[in-house]
Amino acid sequence: MKREDLLKEAFRAMENSYAPYSNYHVGAAVSCTDGRVFWGVNVENASFGATNCAERSAVFAAYSCGYRKDTIDGLAIVSDGERIAAPCGICRQVLSELLKQDTPIYLSNGKDEVDTNIAELLPMQFTEEDVLR
Ligand SMILES: [Zn+2]
Repeated sequence: MKREDLLKEAFRAMENSYAPYSNYHVGAAVSCTDGRVFWGVNVENASFGATNCAERSAVFAAYSCGYRKDTIDGLAIVSDGERIAAPCGICRQVLSELLKQDTPIYLSNGKDEVDTNIAELLPMQFTEEDVLR
């Protein structure tokens, strides 16, 4: 899916963000090689540790439907913040395993945009190769 289209999907997803505590809204969209798109939003909880981030929600949704890193070809993450929403540390760890190293990741807050990938976002990764010996 084209970059601009995937960013639009993520902004549409962001309208469903559940963020009553932070009022910080994040949307994400994963595109798959067959054209399917999965949305994710940040879903907060009164028990803050139970909160889930938008990009993890979207990637987990794609995996839940059987897609894997070889059939995911893009991820867009958008926010309504002053700065672009770069993935948090937990999400970077998850994305390092569930996306290909060079899968494009598009970040936008409607003003600024950055195109990146997980290899750039998370150097010196701890991977399944470290665990599966
Ligand atoms: Zn996160």
